[in-house]
Amino acid sequence: MRRGCLSVGTVNCDICNRHIPYPERYVMVDEDGKGDEVRLGGKSVRYCIECAQKKGYAHYKEIKGEMTLTFLRDGGDVISDPVAEND
Ligand SMILES: [Zn+2]
Repeated sequence: MRRGCLSVGTVNCDICNRHIPYPERYVMVDEDGKGDEVRLGGKSVRYCIECAQKKGYAHYKEIKGEMTLTFLRDGGDVISDPVAEND
């Protein structure tokens, strides 16, 4: 499962270890420990936008003439809207 998040400035990407400054977006993905996305019960891994794009978890899509970042499943369903990180 994927959750789009908004950094409050205290998080790092788990993949490249880059600090994710406020108000940059990132995505939390539940994975099975081998890098594969699972629906439930996995380990939450934080991806910065760059790493998420490399892995195919984030895409830029043109919506109403603007390039908007989306976190989509292969079928094109929106998993979640960006929410504030609260842990
Ligand atoms: Zn990264």
